[in-house]
Amino acid sequence: MKSDLIQKYDMRVPRYTSYPTSPQFDEQVDGAVYKRWLGELNPKTELSLYFHIPFCAEMCSFCGCYTKIVKRYDPVAEYMNALLAEIDLVADALPSNMGERMTAKHLHWGGGSPTMLKGEDWMAIMDKLRSRFDVADNAEIAVELDPRTASEEYIAQLEKAGVNRASIGVQSYRAKVQEAINRIQPYEITAKVIEWLRAHSINHINMDLMYGLPHQTVDEMEDMVDKTVELQPNRIALFGYAHVPWMKSHQKLINEDDLPGTQERWDQFTVAGNRLVEKGYVKIGFDHFAHPDDSMAHAIESSELHRNFQGYTTDTAPAMLAFGASAIGYLPQGYVQNQLPLKAYSQSVYSGVLPTAKGIPINDDDKTRREVIERIMCDLEVDLSAVAKEFGGNVEGLEKDLEKLTPLIEDGICAIDGDKLKVLEDGRPFIRLVASAFDAYLKTSEGRHSKAV
Ligand code: SF4
Repeated sequence: MKSDLIQKYDMRVPRYTSYPTSPQFDEQVDGAVYKRWLGELNPKTELSLYFHIPFCAEMCSFCGCYTKIVKRYDPVAEYMNALLAEIDLVADALPSNMGERMTAKHLHWGGGSPTMLKGEDWMAIMDKLRSRFDVADNAEIAVELDPRTASEEYIAQLEKAGVNRASIGVQSYRAKVQEAINRIQPYEITAKVIEWLRAHSINHINMDLMYGLPHQTVDEMEDMVDKTVELQPNRIALFGYAHVPWMKSHQKLINEDDLPGTQERWDQFTVAGNRLVEKGYVKIGFDHFAHPDDSMAHAIESSELHRNFQGYTTDTAPAMLAFGASAIGYLPQGYVQNQLPLKAYSQSVYSGVLPTAKGIPINDDDKTRREVIERIMCDLEVDLSAVAKEFGGNVEGLEKDLEKLTPLIEDGICAIDGDKLKVLEDGRPFIRLVASAFDAYLKTSEGRHSKAV
């Protein structure tokens, strides 16, 4: 890819883990609306459940998540109680499936560090969930795990709680980079934790690598990939560091002079991505790679890959119920986001009101655009006419959006054949830009997103 294109398209665009994106959420969706939406669900709807644990032992200076640093367990224990109460509130609002509980097929724990929870609390929360939902025998139960704080005993507790997938943050193996991001995590620790996970039947392993961090260089990329591949993860994410100190004040600890420039970021991404492909991993969208035997690689073949707040996913559930402060969920009617700060969240739960702070209902135009954006982000191609028809419209309704693609078509990033739009292989890293042409809200939220490359 020519360097002038990299400079030309060095823009901030959403990651499209939802559409409309979260800056569009507002207070029109509150606890009462969410309660009504829950009650309107078909009781046979398959559910996905997300739990947000917003605590960490130490702040990594690159972090883009909402989390709080705690030195004592009390705030975590208090939060756990609020979470248990929220599970009851939500379950009480769901329709009854002829007296049966609704089925949950995917459970995901994110944060923060979910592994801040004590082992016995995992059991308590899983017992509660199993009493209020029918957790499918083959449900995926995934946890984001901080290897720096995990022990073998702890992993044994996760196994007992039914966890079968773990996502491990790695970022970089270089000591200089780890120091600059305040996250010291020697390779041996990561390798040991993965060994324990497998010994305890947690065989689905995701690893998160990064490029664009302070002091990262193109030279370290192949070594970073080789070390990672030795550990045989099923999925690998290759995230670009998003430097947004005006939104995440702890990122001010990162010296901007130590950050690679746009061309350097591009080269790091290209070298790491090419190496992953050489090692046999399948490209997924713009920042994921999957082992050819992994369900995500199969989902690409059958066009069943999706995007949600966790990024690329094989989760097909039409409803994700999200628990915990700031957690975002979706229902067929729209998106909902919980209260923040923690105090407002727990006060709402304890007063018996669903702690929804904001959200957005979605109409047929949103659904059309969401499907177009999701297919571009996942399949790199979309039949615009078929999608428009599915939601009662026609392709003419997207004509203005197609006009915005003219420069990208001229630059060989995407192509149009009849009503079909295709992102070309060279344009893969720019798929967020292609998708953004169909975002009817983008003008109002530009400054809040990360760079396209
Ligand atoms: S452990 Fe994860 S969530 Fe916590 S501060 Fe570090 S990057 Fe952020």
